[in-house]
Amino acid sequence: MTKHAPDLASAVREIAAEMKEKRDRGEVASYIPELACVDTGKFGIAVVDADGEVTAAGDCDEPFSIQSISKVFTLTLALGKVGDRLWRVVGREPSGSPFNSIVQLERERGIPRNPFINAGAIVVTDQILSGHQPREALGEILRFMQFLANDDSISIDEHVAASEQRTGFRNVALTNYMKSFGVIENPVEYTLGVYFHHCAIAMSCRQLAMAGQFLAHLGRNPITGHSVVQPERARRINSIMMMCGHYDGSGEFAYRVGLPGKSGVGGGILAVAPGKASVAVWAPGLDANGNSHLGRIALEALTRRMGWSVFGA
Ligand code: GLN
Repeated sequence: MTKHAPDLASAVREIAAEMKEKRDRGEVASYIPELACVDTGKFGIAVVDADGEVTAAGDCDEPFSIQSISKVFTLTLALGKVGDRLWRVVGREPSGSPFNSIVQLERERGIPRNPFINAGAIVVTDQILSGHQPREALGEILRFMQFLANDDSISIDEHVAASEQRTGFRNVALTNYMKSFGVIENPVEYTLGVYFHHCAIAMSCRQLAMAGQFLAHLGRNPITGHSVVQPERARRINSIMMMCGHYDGSGEFAYRVGLPGKSGVGGGILAVAPGKASVAVWAPGLDANGNSHLGRIALEALTRRMGWSVFGA
């Protein structure tokens, strides 16, 4: 008797229905006022398989603030621009600290542990900015997202950007501190302006899952045929997502989900099942580490049902 392949469509449908019913939904990020008013009742999921087929459910077409998920794409751009020289100004080790932690930076002389904690992502943004005006750098990041998702309608939510610009005191502190070590090349307000705006890009699960395809398929988007990065670079970006994509919750995410993933405080998670699929989920309520509470639970259910963990079924 042949074993039937697990049915993706029913898995996605059932998981979405289950998540809508959950009572314990986590807390929205309140330190960015504009994100504090998002409805925790939302849940969306989109999966793009190796044939480019999209399976989606729930609030999968509603744009949300991608926040730190943008850091995967800025890392990709910065590596394209400066190559391995990037690793002179940022490390690639898990931090074991919260995303906005300051303490580690002093011991490590202004060099952030990895490109996904705030300090590291700000350095990455600074590298993209060098030699350009902030507006040009931001335009490049946005166009890159549109190109990857094959969708020109993707835009920046200016309210979210302004909201964070008004209240992002910790990021200002982190950036000034790194500047004192000579790690930041551009004026602090320019670098942060670009950073806050790329965090404020709004995308739906469907758009985000489309944009993540190159990471699932050795650097190439199998649908458009566009080669985005070399296979080796895709593999390495995935490894950083696995080790660092969920801050001090990265171990738990690897243990439960078993896929490279990147979260954002808007409640989104992008996860990559190499050779199989690019997955985006969105549930605005967060856990204590600032990662989507139901997003993680949904991905755990999905990888278990589909046998997608990179560590084996
Ligand atoms: N823009 C947010 C910040 O800098 C991103 C944090 C996140 O998504 N974890 O605080």
